[in-house]
Amino acid sequence: MHKPLIIANWKMNPTTLKEAEHLFGSIEKEARKVKDAEVVICPPFVWLVSLVAFARSGLSPKDERVAFGGQDCFWEEKGAYTSQVSPLMLKNLGCQYVIIGHSDRRKYFEESNELVNRKIKTALNARIRPILCVGEEVEDEMSLIVGEQLEKDLFGIPEAKIREIVIVYEPVWAISANNGIDCSSDETMKAGLFIRKTLTKLYNRSIAEKVKIIYGGSVTSQNAADYIKGAAMNGLLIGNASLNATEFVKIIEKVVK
Ligand code: PGA
Repeated sequence: MHKPLIIANWKMNPTTLKEAEHLFGSIEKEARKVKDAEVVICPPFVWLVSLVAFARSGLSPKDERVAFGGQDCFWEEKGAYTSQVSPLMLKNLGCQYVIIGHSDRRKYFEESNELVNRKIKTALNARIRPILCVGEEVEDEMSLIVGEQLEKDLFGIPEAKIREIVIVYEPVWAISANNGIDCSSDETMKAGLFIRKTLTKLYNRSIAEKVKIIYGGSVTSQNAADYIKGAAMNGLLIGNASLNATEFVKIIEKVVK
């Protein structure tokens, strides 16, 4: 079985580099001791360069326990696209992952499935692993919305590449910033099975079984183990709780126990 994949999405926090280094340092010190989980930190772009350097100081690349990811990327490699960051830049900086299609992007920037699809393709070409977020806004529309998102977001992505993508089931109604209500482990399990069934339809069963499907939405140290053990998720995407090093490390410890 794979190690659980635990991803921190710091969103637009913290607001100073000093705080970002402190948060990263506190997580890294503890996360390094945990061998049975893969930990990925996705800080804001402005802190990423310094944090990668900070993480590498005094370490050889094989010592690096915590991986980095971007919170978004553009759909071209380079060029006249003011303000944008390409997946190739993230890759060249040392990131292994990039979040694509987060519900904040879909909501505040009206990001469509077509754009998400282009971003995924560019990220895969740059050999950086997309963390694709899917999820419904209204609780009982899971299969309708997630089914459509998967079909469109993965359109034209070849079988050979699909395993590189991590799929996050993140029901928008369960995210803490939306005063999220807990998504039960039964509901999460159902969504996970639905995603695998859709991947089987789009590709085949053997491919579908190899894709990592993780959960996001108001994860805390209290409920983390339910999603991994109870709902058979392969990992977690954590927003708010990843801004508190003690709580985030507790989550990691809970899922590897
Ligand atoms: P949350 O955020 O853990 O604060 O609910 C998750 C996310 O939006 O990625």
